[in-house]
Amino acid sequence: MPSTRALIHAPWSASKVSTGLRCPQLFHFKYIQKVKEPEVMPEARIGKAIHKSLEQVLMGTPLAESTAQVRAELPSEIEQMRFDNLVPGIPAFATRIGQFRRRRRVARQLVEYSLAVREDLTTTQFYAGDAYYRGVLDLGYLFEDDSLALVDHKTGARIPGTTVTDQLEGYAVLAASAFRHVRRFWLGIHWIAERSVEWSTPVPAELIRDTLVPDLLDNIEAAALAVDDGPRPNAGSWCDRCSYRTICPASKDIRYEPVEYDEDDED
Ligand code: SF4
Repeated sequence: MPSTRALIHAPWSASKVSTGLRCPQLFHFKYIQKVKEPEVMPEARIGKAIHKSLEQVLMGTPLAESTAQVRAELPSEIEQMRFDNLVPGIPAFATRIGQFRRRRRVARQLVEYSLAVREDLTTTQFYAGDAYYRGVLDLGYLFEDDSLALVDHKTGARIPGTTVTDQLEGYAVLAASAFRHVRRFWLGIHWIAERSVEWSTPVPAELIRDTLVPDLLDNIEAAALAVDDGPRPNAGSWCDRCSYRTICPASKDIRYEPVEYDEDDED
């Protein structure tokens, strides 16, 4: 059974858990006080744009049409150029997926597919009041041999020291609850900038039940405990990408140190 403090903050998601573990101050801004982001990071906007275009192309929109429309929504030429640098990863991925689909018997394609579970891991609606953990799968393929491939698109850099399974643990738990007949899960990360897909070894349903589910529930409890003492900044290299850095007390200390007045500087 989840603790009361974990239930209070439900529904959880992968990013909510990692935010709680990384910086309780950021968790409070985002999920408790629900402060509107004072600034949106260019990386976040570009990542969203690429995700949107990938989704449209996989659903059949021609590449040029999709990228032109999504690109036009970016606010500056610099962001549009950064978007352009990532665009070649879209047809490269679509071609690879097309070849993969021809080799395997795909029963169903899942694009931007939302899933949610209750605290007992039975499935529920994404926006239901009893959702305990939820997420949106970037891409999934259900095969006729009772296996499922899950892919998460990443526009950022690899996270050192983590594996594909670490990063997709939550999605595997959600998918295993939703598709109970599936016996084997392939977990893949699509590194868009590198135009590569990194796959885990196949994960059996038993491993999800016996290891990934308890790990996920423990991580939720740890995040709930970390944020229980109130907003505590935990400054680190991640502050550079934090949308709340302009209003965070810790970040202000680091970024806006008063400059000492020195008479020798005066000409
Ligand atoms: S700037 Fe850093 S310490 Fe402050 S809320 Fe953001 S991540 Fe946390």
